[in-house]
Amino acid sequence: MSRGALTHPVDGRFGAFGGQYVPETLMSALQELEDMWHEAKADPQFQLELAGHRRAFIGRPTPLYAATRIGDHFGGTHIHFKREDLCHTGAHKLNNAVGQALLALRMGKKRIIAETGAGQHGVATATVCARFGIRDWVTNVRTTHYIIGSVVGPHPYPEMVRDLQRVIGDEAREQYMSLDGKLPDVVVACVGGGSNAIGIFTAFLDDRDVSLVGVEAAGKGIRSGEHAASLVGGRPGVLHGSYSYVLQDGDGQILPTHSISAGLDYPGVGPEHAFLREIERVEYVAVSDKDALAAFKLCTRLEGIIPALEPSHAIHHAGVIARELGPGGRILVCLSGRGDKDMDSIPTKSEAEAVTSRGPLDVDEG
Ligand SMILES: *Cc1c(COP(=O)(O)O)cnc(C)c1O
Repeated sequence: MSRGALTHPVDGRFGAFGGQYVPETLMSALQELEDMWHEAKADPQFQLELAGHRRAFIGRPTPLYAATRIGDHFGGTHIHFKREDLCHTGAHKLNNAVGQALLALRMGKKRIIAETGAGQHGVATATVCARFGIRDWVTNVRTTHYIIGSVVGPHPYPEMVRDLQRVIGDEAREQYMSLDGKLPDVVVACVGGGSNAIGIFTAFLDDRDVSLVGVEAAGKGIRSGEHAASLVGGRPGVLHGSYSYVLQDGDGQILPTHSISAGLDYPGVGPEHAFLREIERVEYVAVSDKDALAAFKLCTRLEGIIPALEPSHAIHHAGVIARELGPGGRILVCLSGRGDKDMDSIPTKSEAEAVTSRGPLDVDEG
């Protein structure tokens, strides 16, 4: 299948998923956004401006880092981290926020609104508002642009946010190839709404020998019901204007979610992930709070890098894959953000002793 067929939504859909389930009053704003995004995307001037902000404000390209001590710990695997934790404000979210802020300026919308659960997207949005002089958070559709923080929401958001985050994978693929001319066996990324995962996966979709694995939050275990794994533990449904996988009860009511990481604690997932799962291009798994916490500590101790709790889920699963691949396996992990923000969520030593950690190589199947 060509890249175009895989990644270009038809009528705002990825297969059956996506669409625009919004009130009539928002339809013209979404149409305007779609038109303006396609126009901006094709405009070399816009791309040049975006590239400049990526370099000087966000700090791109972010490094590709050889995590050799973790690789040795996992049995002699080549593990590389794409260091989105080194982006300004500490996570990949700014890649999207900067692009949408530039688009809002181009559209003459001086007011920016956002919703945020994890806080990281709020930080990224406030940052671009400061940088580009956009201060009011109001709900006037004519003058306001709504910055969605992930590849979720009605069309064109999932496609637009994907286009803005794919820089992660475009850079990582080139950096990885320049090491020894080979691609990784597996690319692993955590999935909340799914933007860092889509961001790194997109560049590898046509590389059929590269396995792609998305890691959701199993929280206290899938069977406990206290998790945030929409693809692993949910069903198709409509949430936030889009048809995708949703954590819902028998009546279609959205279920409460749980994850130790705020960024993964979301009852839905981007529609492109639902599609990539359906066509079996990407495998989705879930990792528990406990295992993510152990990986957080392992990475901090062995590499001197404090990962956010979100990508700690992906690091744990990299250990699982390493065991399957055996020595010499090649794994690329998207390190979506840094963990300073999470220090308060980490149990103290005495709290931790009350929890029996089973170590980073153990799999929690729920
Ligand atoms: C917000 C966030 C996530 C989850 O969002 P996605 O859209 O799934 O990428 C993951 N990691 C970090 C560090 C985050 O801040």
